[in-house]
Amino acid sequence: MERGRCCPMAGFGRLAAPREPGRMAQRDAGTHDHDERPARAVLVFLDGVGIGADAPGNPFAAARMPGIEGLLGGRRPLREHLDGGGRIDGGRAVLVAADATLGVAGLPQSGTGQTTLLTGRNAAAEYGRHFGPWVPTGLREMLGRENLLARARAAGRRPAFANAYPIASIDADPRIFRRPAAPPLAAISAGCLDRDLAELAAGRAVASSITNEQWRRHLGDELAQVTPQEAGRRLAAITAGADVTLFAHYDTDHVGHRGDAASAVAAVEKVDAFLGALADALPPDALLVVASDHGNLEDPSAAHTLNPVPVIAAGPGRMALAERVRSLADVTPAMLWLLGIAADAVDSPGAFINRSDLTS
Ligand SMILES: [Zn+2]
Repeated sequence: MERGRCCPMAGFGRLAAPREPGRMAQRDAGTHDHDERPARAVLVFLDGVGIGADAPGNPFAAARMPGIEGLLGGRRPLREHLDGGGRIDGGRAVLVAADATLGVAGLPQSGTGQTTLLTGRNAAAEYGRHFGPWVPTGLREMLGRENLLARARAAGRRPAFANAYPIASIDADPRIFRRPAAPPLAAISAGCLDRDLAELAAGRAVASSITNEQWRRHLGDELAQVTPQEAGRRLAAITAGADVTLFAHYDTDHVGHRGDAASAVAAVEKVDAFLGALADALPPDALLVVASDHGNLEDPSAAHTLNPVPVIAAGPGRMALAERVRSLADVTPAMLWLLGIAADAVDSPGAFINRSDLTS
């Protein structure tokens, strides 16, 4: 854990005074596009990915990663590949090693980590400890009100949740949703948990496992398999049709808990192919942000870790985002600022779509 380097304990969820984008653009006028403001953004959440050592057993050292290496100038999310500031400036993309401990003792967990990532609030501190894997009941109202997608909706922008969800099953048995992750809760609050099997089959949604094998386990050949590259292109198309898009992938954490080296390498290579194709297919006005909630997959000897997590940004605004991110709590405020959405935008009471409307 590189606590001294990348984890200032002060200022979680608090941004430095906003820098004036126009001045930054002037400084680099004609040489880079990296200080332009994005018109839209997509956040790809990867569960349980930290930055560990370049050592045997770390799948980020062992896997073939042409997609991420292409973004990061040949480097990888490995501790030894970071510069002195805890970053990788790879030309096409920038990586920041972001603190996931949030100044709270214990191992970071999914429920509070994801809530922090999606709201900019230090959910672990507010809850009193790290908690997971699901979002604790006491944080759900805050998450629903203050998340990235809800802020976008309240500001009159179009949010999208790209994941396919078994919405009809949730409607039939709400207990399926008893222990929810933060991304679908955020989507419900913003009225965009609206992609089911039909959208997945039509290529207008992406399975949380990226490829469709988990759905196919239930449905068989009724649903075609997709490659990670095709899934990346589908997410790019969804991103192009919205203002703020969220996609969540959880297998990286599940595989990390299993501790099987071959599965870990395969999981990294699938994500790499997906991200490479996504970055290539995104419209030029889109900011891509990839972030995790806590370490796990990078260290096969442990469950969750204290390692910092990668926040990778590509496209317009990436350098401004990198300058603002020190911890999980900085990602959503920085994205909102770059998109020109007020960080306190909330819908008026009653403006949220009723949950039953989503599941009918
Ligand atoms: Zn997690």
